[in-house]
Amino acid sequence: MNLLIIGAPGAGKGTMSELILNRYELVHVSTGDMLRAAVKNGTPVGLKAQGYMNRGELVPDEVIHDIIVERLSQDDVDAGFLFDGYPRTENQAVDLDEILKELDKKIDMVINLNIAEEELIKRITGRRLCPACGEIYNIYFNPPKEEGKCDKCGADLIQRKDDNLESLEVRLSEYHKNTQPVIEYYEKKDIVRHIDAAQAIEKVFEDISKELEGLCR
Ligand SMILES: [Zn+2]
Repeated sequence: MNLLIIGAPGAGKGTMSELILNRYELVHVSTGDMLRAAVKNGTPVGLKAQGYMNRGELVPDEVIHDIIVERLSQDDVDAGFLFDGYPRTENQAVDLDEILKELDKKIDMVINLNIAEEELIKRITGRRLCPACGEIYNIYFNPPKEEGKCDKCGADLIQRKDDNLESLEVRLSEYHKNTQPVIEYYEKKDIVRHIDAAQAIEKVFEDISKELEGLCR
């Protein structure tokens, strides 16, 4: 089965991808990872991408396109894959469908992690981390015993620079503007499954698994 997972920042996309990959034998297709690998291995596409990155520019769609074609042409993806972080725009979704059609493949299901904005705001702006031992807290859901101090090592907790309301709102509005059309594109194909991502991690994964079991039958 070929899957795609979509979710706003803070919706738990990384955690769910990991759980899905652990249970089902799928290839993880992440454009970020592929870009880094292509650059590292110095492939023709990688060199092209590196040029843009060195100039501090966004890697354009046609370069990402080449990277995806290269990746999806490898044999291991025949067992099925999970796309994570792509497509981000409707144009990319249309392009991905064309690539897949060429390869006689298709997306079977789009998992959309749904979560209310207030919940995302609490998840992100409440996040605190320990610079000494890496422990992560949340002042709303998982606060340290003593305010501002790590339970494990006693160090002063910090908040990541990006984890504030202003930058979250920019990321969220960017996300909705681009991703809403992507979801609508796949809804027309009737392959989107909306999952309530505000639930406990185990319950979110259980709901996803139920949908996937249906697909395996
Ligand atoms: Zn600590």
